[in-house]
Amino acid sequence: MDQVKGRLFIGGQWTGAASGKEFTSFDPATGQPIGTFAEAGPSEVDSAVDAARKALSARSWSGITAAERARLLWRVAELVEEHADELAELETRDQGQPLGVAQGVSVATTAEHFRYYAGWCTKIEGVVTPVSFPDTLHYTRREPVGVCALITPWNFPLMIASWKIAPALACGNTVIVKPAEQTPLTTVRLVELIEEAGIPAGVVNLVTGGPGVGKALVAHSGVDKVSFTGSTAVGREIVRASAGNLKRVTLELGGKAPSIVAADADIDAAVAGNLQGALLNSGQVCAAYTRVYVDRHRIDEFTEKLATAMAGLRLGPGIDPQTQLGPLVSPEHLAGVDAHVRAAVGAGAQLVTGGSKADGELASGNFYRPTVFAGVDDDMAIVRDEVFGPVLPVLAYDDPEELADRANATDYGLAAAVWTKDLATAHRMAADIRAGAVFVNMLPIPDSAAPWGGFGASGWGREMGKYALDVFTEVKGVWMHLG
Ligand code: NAD
Repeated sequence: MDQVKGRLFIGGQWTGAASGKEFTSFDPATGQPIGTFAEAGPSEVDSAVDAARKALSARSWSGITAAERARLLWRVAELVEEHADELAELETRDQGQPLGVAQGVSVATTAEHFRYYAGWCTKIEGVVTPVSFPDTLHYTRREPVGVCALITPWNFPLMIASWKIAPALACGNTVIVKPAEQTPLTTVRLVELIEEAGIPAGVVNLVTGGPGVGKALVAHSGVDKVSFTGSTAVGREIVRASAGNLKRVTLELGGKAPSIVAADADIDAAVAGNLQGALLNSGQVCAAYTRVYVDRHRIDEFTEKLATAMAGLRLGPGIDPQTQLGPLVSPEHLAGVDAHVRAAVGAGAQLVTGGSKADGELASGNFYRPTVFAGVDDDMAIVRDEVFGPVLPVLAYDDPEELADRANATDYGLAAAVWTKDLATAHRMAADIRAGAVFVNMLPIPDSAAPWGGFGASGWGREMGKYALDVFTEVKGVWMHLG
């Protein structure tokens, strides 16, 4: 693949950074550079905010008909599908995910998101309110929040950009997109497709670069809202930094999803489901299953089958169609995952399989062998901290009554899973676990129509479904005296 040269997109123009500064993105499977990107400085952030504000004031987006906005968002979906192979390959080269994941999850979901929110453009309604004043009409309007800074992480760069851009635009906002510095490729390409679709200049702006670019956006008085997906630590910083003009803030943050395997569970299905639920995108999934609680009578069978299945997975470059597990995104992230594993071993956890970087042919990439721990207890860091890698600790439980408390013994609350054939167990756990999504006998998958977001330290607000309309609009009440 040719080296990519990424630029900024501000007010409908592609441009470099005035400073001439650039950064490099690397293929995580080979460690080789794959593209250079403009590093936006404060003046480019100002220009991008200015362009978004002008487009907002000129009503060049919110002022066109809802039907026309819908047509343009639908066109973006079509263009994403027309370029599906290209986008999937870019995502795999930049992020590392196996090509099948890039095609079936990242690209397919992105197209679906634009199509889903294209449908909403013509359905964002107000209500007539029965106020108790005589001769008074009251109705509500849902208006755009304004200029939205959309800051995304490196694990599903294209898909998460679409989770934010599509609903923000459906609601009439103008946006500045800031992808993660590790994985800007597909966001740059998506913005090119958005331009090609005919979305007016200034409505979607792109600034690439590191945390400094995100910080400048979050502190900017011309930004009305921040929609952020990333780590909980940065989420907390963003809340503090947004206080100046009291920006609206939505946060999709980390997770530590418990997965509960009941005594009556179909163990083979639970093994297959936890394998995929824990290892999709090499475990770099906020809703990944990261601590499995198994009934003590079934735990040996479960752990043995899980470890055998994990050890048999084919690690390799995502671009190879035979690959089942790709690399981690960067050497720095791999070092962090390995440090968690070393600490668990040091704390006395029993390493059942994995536990090291892959060597041999894969040594130049960021490949980590899928790892299972047994003999862990609830207080170990491997059970409490987000590892964001292919690492799964297995814990035993004796009494189902203790499960909800153990599952909820975390600051996070993004997702959870329950494996059971018993409806009462499924519904009880679904009600008792504090998480934004509970999956029964299935993988942690997102869908455009279903809410996504977390309790506690997993964030604020919900993306997707009609819930995203709430966070990308302000409600205005209009009072009219008719007497
Ligand atoms: P990160 O928080 O380090 O970075 C995310 C983005 O924020 C990047 O674009 C980065 O440049 C920018 N950034 C960094 N510091 C900033 C600051 N002070 N102000 C503004 N922007 C700043 O996260 P990451 O390491 O890229 O992503 C992994 C994390 O994302 C994990 O914790 C994972 O759980 C979380 N995540 C959550 C969801 C969800 O839906 N809840 C989805 C995917 C990932």
